[in-house]
Amino acid sequence: MIGFEHVYSKIERYRSEIIAMQRELTARPALGPENGGTGEHEKADYIKEQLLLLKPDISFDINAPDEMAANGYRPNIVTAWNGSKQGRAIWILSHLDIVPPGDLSLWKDDPYKMRVEGDKIIGRGVEDNQHGIVSSYFAVKAILDLKQAFPRKVGLVFVADEETGSKYGLQYILKERRDLFKEDDVIIVPDGGNEEGTMIEIAEKSMLWLKFTITGVQCHASTPEKGKNSLSGAAKLIVELNTLKERFDLSNPLFKPQESTFEPTRIEANVPNVNTIPGRDVFYLDCRILPDYKVDEIIKEVVVLNKKIAKKLDLKIDVEAIHRQDCAPPTPADSPVVVSLAKAINKVTGLKAKPMGIGGGTVAAFFREAGLPTAVWSTISQTAHQPNEYCSIKNIITDAKIMATVFLSG
Ligand SMILES: [Zn+2]
Repeated sequence: MIGFEHVYSKIERYRSEIIAMQRELTARPALGPENGGTGEHEKADYIKEQLLLLKPDISFDINAPDEMAANGYRPNIVTAWNGSKQGRAIWILSHLDIVPPGDLSLWKDDPYKMRVEGDKIIGRGVEDNQHGIVSSYFAVKAILDLKQAFPRKVGLVFVADEETGSKYGLQYILKERRDLFKEDDVIIVPDGGNEEGTMIEIAEKSMLWLKFTITGVQCHASTPEKGKNSLSGAAKLIVELNTLKERFDLSNPLFKPQESTFEPTRIEANVPNVNTIPGRDVFYLDCRILPDYKVDEIIKEVVVLNKKIAKKLDLKIDVEAIHRQDCAPPTPADSPVVVSLAKAINKVTGLKAKPMGIGGGTVAAFFREAGLPTAVWSTISQTAHQPNEYCSIKNIITDAKIMATVFLSG
């Protein structure tokens, strides 16, 4: 087998091709219907063309029916190259879709016209998740261009709908084709990480978003005795909910912060004028719950606190979970994906990577839920969803080298 150094220098020579592919991808905005678009078709077609140049052994589409999208479906792509050995395969999963640019006045330029500034590539989607698409593509290409065989099967998966829930993306693939993946496969999702590339995300907190509606009686502010102030009620309830931190106070060193968090966030507008006591207030609580607790335990306690305040102030308080994602079982820190990734990171950058947990919300949770250990990792500037989103060409090259190392190490 050819030395790793050959593969690394091959990857370094792809710089202009990396930029060109990023430009083509950025010019094909892949917005899901819920984000005001028609789907990921154009971007998917371009990637399929590029993949064909690498002559995969397996290549097929998994189209998820979606009435709202162009042609009635959302595109997912599965490609793989066979390895010389049987057994464990290595998969890299990236997502095709992007989020809208948001306020255009905050962008220095057209978000869909990629620009290069030194080491930076700027445009919507360049980091989230084209960084992953491009680095995995060039990792495969380098090995094939050098006429090397993969020791193990290597697969690249490109999914739709990551940004709006994955119903038409990874969730659909796992529903239709769970058989593609085996429990001991190495599955990497390059859609999160830190600037050093040392964070291997293996666990998530559960996510729970609660909506509280406090109903009192509206009246003139000069005669509070004639009404029931819903805003005072909301304020007292917020203070009461703060005790959740004390009640559920376990800490877990995988995470940062190490504790569960319970943060009041959004509050809806109530009365428009100062001299009216409001009779209805709505606010929201964002909870990120350590895997050590069940979400139902939290909800039970919230209901107790609600009742306490409602009774004390004679108000009606309703609570509703508007979003709930119970965390999947964490990927073990000693699973093959974590071990081989950490080894490859160390080989390429000399750094020591660390398994960690995050606040929740990556697509890896669906793999873990299906019993498939998965690591989320990449070397990124963390500009996803921001105006003037950018990524570093150097980081794409580094990550391609790390992925190629994982492919070749078997
Ligand atoms: Zn993403």
